[in-house]
Amino acid sequence: MVMKKMKRILIGFKGIALLAATLFFSCKEVTVNNRAIEDIETELEVRDSVKITIGKKDELSVAKLKSLEGLADTLFVRLADFSNDFVYDLRYATENNFLKAKVYDCAECYTRVKTARALLLANKEFMGKGFKIKFYDCYRPNDVQYKMWAIVPNPQYVANPVKGSIHNKGGAVDITLVTLQGVELDMGTDFDFFGKRAYHDNLDLPKSVLNNRLLLKETMEEYGFWSIRTEWWHYNLGTASNDKVANFKWDCD
Ligand SMILES: [Zn+2]
Repeated sequence: MVMKKMKRILIGFKGIALLAATLFFSCKEVTVNNRAIEDIETELEVRDSVKITIGKKDELSVAKLKSLEGLADTLFVRLADFSNDFVYDLRYATENNFLKAKVYDCAECYTRVKTARALLLANKEFMGKGFKIKFYDCYRPNDVQYKMWAIVPNPQYVANPVKGSIHNKGGAVDITLVTLQGVELDMGTDFDFFGKRAYHDNLDLPKSVLNNRLLLKETMEEYGFWSIRTEWWHYNLGTASNDKVANFKWDCD
């Protein structure tokens, strides 16, 4: 009898222990689950706030874009204020150019309004074909022309600053084409390669290079630009020749 009673008590203890263990583990499970839910909620909140931030940023940059409408043709404007669709590699604001000198205080691409209008239209056409304009140089203040002349006083490579170049008039740009992902098209030479290989009339180049140059040239001509024989990257706006050489300087703050 005593043994039977002891067994019952033991079974009773076992039962309580089992119940306690079940409660303990199920509580723990709920806690773990609660934590997981909290984590997921936090993650979602983070994701949402990132999404909201990106959304706001996009809205801000779109809202910041200005319109060229009503602006005087000869006014100087910063291209990036009017479009997010251009790519910039302004070489003279670095030492990665034939002068091996940084001649701009900071990298900015300015042109006169009429040049900007033509560039926006040309870029729209390029984008329809899967490409964008990438700038190597834009308007160049006359003082910078003097700086360049002091380093390389050779009219074969640098326009004499006394007369000035169309870059100094805000009507010339040095450009190439990149894909919408930013990959440069092969134009046969780098920017500012001074030699026959950069000439428009040098047809001794791979067919793909000639096609890339032709796409650039034909489209730019369609929008009022003309090219010079020796530099595949240089384009002058036809109506810029009579504009004055300028020495307007942009802010670098
Ligand atoms: Zn040029």
